[in-house]
Amino acid sequence: MKVYISADIEGITGTTSWSETELNAPDNHFFQKQMTQEVEAAIEGAVIGGATEILLKDAHDTARNLDISNLPVNCKVIRGWTQEPMCMVAGLDQSFDRVIFIGYHSKGGSSRNPLAHTLSLIADVKINGEYASEFLINTYAAALHGVPVSFVSGDVGLTEEIQSVNENIVTFATKEGVGNATISVSPQLALMETKRLVEHSMKVERESLQVTLPERFVVEIIYRDHTRAYRNSFYPKATFKPHNTVEFETDDYFEVLRILQFLT
Ligand SMILES: [Zn+2]
Repeated sequence: MKVYISADIEGITGTTSWSETELNAPDNHFFQKQMTQEVEAAIEGAVIGGATEILLKDAHDTARNLDISNLPVNCKVIRGWTQEPMCMVAGLDQSFDRVIFIGYHSKGGSSRNPLAHTLSLIADVKINGEYASEFLINTYAAALHGVPVSFVSGDVGLTEEIQSVNENIVTFATKEGVGNATISVSPQLALMETKRLVEHSMKVERESLQVTLPERFVVEIIYRDHTRAYRNSFYPKATFKPHNTVEFETDDYFEVLRILQFLT
């Protein structure tokens, strides 16, 4: 059974400030280690649950955050960015059985995590009128290949969103954001529960985890800066609309991933 794991850091236990998420910043070291350990716990749980092959994507910032020295022999890791539209789930295809997201976070504009954002800090993203999270964008990307998401860890705001998308997806809440602060579980508890719940999620019936792709997508990219919005509105078939927004419509989700790759 092949499992794909995509790992971010803004939903890792304890992360609160941007400097804690930046490679080689003095206060990053603990969180880089915790991110690595939460990923290792997910791998252990997946293997106990039946995974025979794992593809791991380091999917934050430089995409070179994880210490890979203890990865098991049946795990490959993608470091750096492939620059393809699949982005945070690059390399994921129909050969995989299920997907796991570790350290994911609330969408841009949310008050539930001081590090909330969607893809970049220059814009927020709406799909079909709703603000979209990286979880939703990447879950749809997996659905494009027919692969369901079985487990996600991250902040409480995100786990609540996931329950409303598909209540069969197993989640673990690492922390709750309040203003510019976070209230986190113990780092040790996060490791224990990640391992246990990932193993459990491997047994959830695959069909029940599927998220249906909408037939049509209206994408709005809402920029902080109106000049960037005007420039990017010249993307093929895109239009500019107030305020600071580029709008794009398609029935092909890969085109959504393509515009997000080029314009955010
Ligand atoms: Zn990130």
